Amino acid sequence: QEQIVIVGAGHGGTTAAVELRSRGFEGGIVLLSDEPVEPYERPPLSKAWLTADGAEKDSLYGLDTLSERGIDLRLGAKAETLDLAARSLRLGDGSELTYSALILATGSQARKLPISGMECENVFSLRTAGDADALRAALVPGSKLVVVGAGYIGLEVAASARKLGADVTIVELADRCMPRTASVTISDFYHQYHEEHGVAFVLKDGVSALEAEGDHVTGVALSSGSVLPADAVLIAAGGVPDDILAQQAGIACDNGILTDENGRTSDPSVYAIGDAARRPTPWAEEALRLESVHSALEMARLVAADITGSQPPALQPPWFWSDQYDLKLQIVGLVTPGFEQIKRHTEGSLSVFHLKGDELMAVEAVNDPRAYMLGRTALSKGLAVDRHVLSDPEADLKNALL
Ligand code: FAD
Repeated sequence: QEQIVIVGAGHGGTTAAVELRSRGFEGGIVLLSDEPVEPYERPPLSKAWLTADGAEKDSLYGLDTLSERGIDLRLGAKAETLDLAARSLRLGDGSELTYSALILATGSQARKLPISGMECENVFSLRTAGDADALRAALVPGSKLVVVGAGYIGLEVAASARKLGADVTIVELADRCMPRTASVTISDFYHQYHEEHGVAFVLKDGVSALEAEGDHVTGVALSSGSVLPADAVLIAAGGVPDDILAQQAGIACDNGILTDENGRTSDPSVYAIGDAARRPTPWAEEALRLESVHSALEMARLVAADITGSQPPALQPPWFWSDQYDLKLQIVGLVTPGFEQIKRHTEGSLSVFHLKGDELMAVEAVNDPRAYMLGRTALSKGLAVDRHVLSDPEADLKNALL
């Protein structure tokens, strides 16, 4: 009997399993997770999970749904090595598992900094429910949190930590927050909003060492020479693809496991999806590795379609969201420098439209779901937009599509 093995039960892996069944696959499906808990959604970890008392896990599909569909979920089961010739995996407990097709959905890991003190008990990163529980325990009122990296995860944790009454300082190498993913307008807006909520920023500076007493970090030493006192440190300096299994097996990797547009790797029986994978898309000349729920879900569906020979999903322009304080940032498309930017500021909302001629390339919308939806429609259908409507805060955005 055919058997598909999926390594990793996050957004990508779990969705792939469910999609395979809904697309008619009748063979065995084994879903391996090296985590001890049932599959859950990761985005709340930096948001509601940290601030809510005893937050309920946002489970992905739920155990009943998985078992009803005959999906053999194995928790605490780590795939250690992959043998492409034998089409088999060796698991942490020494057992072997063979597959007819393999889906690598191993996600990404927090980037580690090459400095001393990283292993201390009050230095955190945030990838798993276990990480979130450990971090939450450290965020007591008045505690000093130093966040290294002003990307989404760093900023979201900063907002949550302020709610919990911690003092927060963010250290960032670049000269603004969200330097790789947001326009200067949005970065500046968020910078100011965080400052208004009591967050301090140290920009254009790096961490040179973590000063520790025994197993406990007491200060974060910066390249500029100053030392920030710290009760807890969050390293939020970006993610690296978890492609170790693929690399060791000899599958082509380059900042992620390389795939074709259907998610197939350099080995025809092996697919890769989600944060771990890098694939060609219509949205950029270079293959993209996107760390987003959208990309994980889309790739899961593409792979399930390829395996079952069913209709692939229509590709969506990349979308992403981030919740900080009472602000919902929604982004559609890829924010890349060089395009014309039109800013639309209304009471309570701010949007930036990125245009190439009359073509919309991306929208960043803060508390502005209509601007975001307009962007999704325009980008998915390739519709041109009227720049005068976009720039007029009084105009109805419904009239912006040409
Ligand atoms: P993951 O969901 O990371 O799952 C991978 C799983 O594979 C993990 O459980 C891992 O332990 C397991 N694994 C790895 N190696 C093995 C092995 N050898 N054997 C067995 N299991 C293994 N995205 C958004 O779009 N919006 C957001 O607001 C947002 N917020 C986020 C907040 C946080 C704190 C984090 C960490 C991520 C956030 N993301 C957000 C990103 C989003 O969660 C990821 O892009 C998405 O989870 C990727 O899905 P995935 O299936 O590729 O990997």
